[in-house]
Amino acid sequence: MELIVVGSGTGVPSLTRGSPGYGVRAAGRLVFLDLGPGVLRAMGRYGLDFSEIDVLALSHFHPDHVGDLVPFLFATRYALGYTRQEPFHLLAARGFRQFYGHLQKAFGEWVEPPPGLMQLQELDPAGTTEVVLGEIVIKSAPTNHTEHSLAYRVESKGRALVYSGDTDASDSLVELAKGADLLVLECANPFKVPGHLTPPEAGRLAAQAGVPRLVLSHFYPPCDEVDIVAQAAAEFPGEIIKAEDGMRISLSAGAT
Ligand SMILES: [Zn+2]
Ligand SMILES: [Zn+2]
Repeated sequence: MELIVVGSGTGVPSLTRGSPGYGVRAAGRLVFLDLGPGVLRAMGRYGLDFSEIDVLALSHFHPDHVGDLVPFLFATRYALGYTRQEPFHLLAARGFRQFYGHLQKAFGEWVEPPPGLMQLQELDPAGTTEVVLGEIVIKSAPTNHTEHSLAYRVESKGRALVYSGDTDASDSLVELAKGADLLVLECANPFKVPGHLTPPEAGRLAAQAGVPRLVLSHFYPPCDEVDIVAQAAAEFPGEIIKAEDGMRISLSAGAT
């Protein structure tokens, strides 16, 4: 299994940090977590083709996490070179169909993939859901951010990665992350903003989950002005990685 950080930033336009988007290669498939504005183009820069996406899992409906959903859906229908025949899965919290309905009202058929291509599944926004797709198991759990906010756990061949999406301190996220090999946590600002984690809070959450490795990501610009890794390390004894766009992190030697 491998994590590819496509966007380690937020909704703030930045030359160095793109909006949220994370690829997970596992069992020969591409699971993609969030699709912020500019992510489709950035995927190409980091060697990923949007037509490879087997599963698109959205953490919540804030624009910095779903901004490229409209161009993605448009491209599944009209991009030359998108020859995918096998359906892709779109996972999001219950409420997504309503959100998508608004997009359809605005854009009509321009955001409708060819019939049968998109397999949409709404997940429990208040509890856990498990989706089994061949050799990959995806579990979701609510986070403490909006009523539609989910974290995802991707498991395959004995490896597990958890992505928080946006969250404040969250017991359900701690539970979801227990036993995982890698935990990707949002760490939006070095100062407290309700609905988000500070570096020490991210460290504490990772320590509660007992994971060996923590990736901090989703940085507003102030995060690049202080040593957030040192701040998180005060609460977490394991390895801490500060995400950068284009970073690849392997969860297993040899196999992906
Ligand atoms: Zn958000
Ligand atoms: Zn966000």
